[in-house]
Amino acid sequence: MPHSHKQMISFFLTTKCDLRCVYCYNCKERLELEEKTLPLEIAKAGIDEFFTNNKSRHIRFYGPGEPTQEFELMSQIADYARQKGGKEVTTELQTNGAFNSKVRGWLLDNLNIVWVSFDGPPDIQNQQRPFPNNKPSAPIIEENILWLHRNRGNRDLMVGARVTMTSLNIHRQIEMVDYFCSLGIRYIWTDPEFPAVEKNPVCDDEKKYEQYEFNMELYVDNFIKAYKYARLKNIFYGSFLTCNFDGETKIHCRACTPVPHLTPDGYVSACDLVVFGANKNHMNCFIYGKWNKQKKQFEYYPKRLKAMQDRSVDNISHCKDCFAKLHCGGYCLGEVVNETGMLDGQKPIVCRAIRTLLKEIGPLEKFDYLHP
Ligand code: SF4
Ligand code: SF4
Repeated sequence: MPHSHKQMISFFLTTKCDLRCVYCYNCKERLELEEKTLPLEIAKAGIDEFFTNNKSRHIRFYGPGEPTQEFELMSQIADYARQKGGKEVTTELQTNGAFNSKVRGWLLDNLNIVWVSFDGPPDIQNQQRPFPNNKPSAPIIEENILWLHRNRGNRDLMVGARVTMTSLNIHRQIEMVDYFCSLGIRYIWTDPEFPAVEKNPVCDDEKKYEQYEFNMELYVDNFIKAYKYARLKNIFYGSFLTCNFDGETKIHCRACTPVPHLTPDGYVSACDLVVFGANKNHMNCFIYGKWNKQKKQFEYYPKRLKAMQDRSVDNISHCKDCFAKLHCGGYCLGEVVNETGMLDGQKPIVCRAIRTLLKEIGPLEKFDYLHP
């Protein structure tokens, strides 16, 4: 089942975060806003509506800050989902992994999938993802992951790594496989760094365009080596660029359904890159609904919904004749809009990388755990 088929309701719980990652994609946006947390009332209404309209019973906790910073709220939402959806409910979290022992005890008994944003061996992790006082984050994350694995027993719980690839770790991918393996991690997804989401598309911001440096060819070369190495060790090593390689699809991801991602400021987003609704910027095409406080219901924006639903490789001109189209789906809408300002824009560097990867390693067998 390719990534495009992943259906779930996501809760963008809070802006609070206890780390200060150097590349944080929405850092400026988050700092400019007052601290905000998703109201429980909206989360509950979102569950009611999603469980009525979609067969999926998968719920997911995500940014814009660190979800475990609002641990009580996360636990209330999970309880409510189980009350409404029963035993079919499955749970997923993307976390920075720097949580305390109370939180990890709850995670152990309440979650099925935990993706830890973790950038590799301690020297890289501590440089890319430090605490605000520059204190290293690797020790507490290692301890938490080892503890979860030690205490997992027969629980249906997977703890995997979601790695942001930058110039620091791009050439250390085999070493990364060994390092994560030593912590008991068997599922690793790697994501090439992309320019942060700010007020304007990257194409209109010359300075930002020039500042962005990512050697995609080097990433792909080293990814293929690490992928083959990981396979020998029976470890899953994936790339965001290969997230649709295990099936066929004409769309890239859930943003084309779309499925709800509830924002802390009371909007419905289609994409992980758009974590607030009130901003008037180029990413607003992903905000397709809003919570109406008075009526206590969601209201939707049909034109925006239709634009996302219409996005398919059949009607994107550069995709139509691409041999990789059914294993790509036209690539990530969020990144494309952020960089080109258009839903059907193109990232040619990524296209070359996807085609190389498909020739070298694809198509792939069914993934056990889809990209977050
Ligand atoms: S970031 Fe890309 S892959 Fe993720 S939801 Fe947004 S458009 Fe889809
Ligand atoms: S690789 Fe590029 S051209 Fe090919 S389907 Fe994907 S986005 Fe379209």
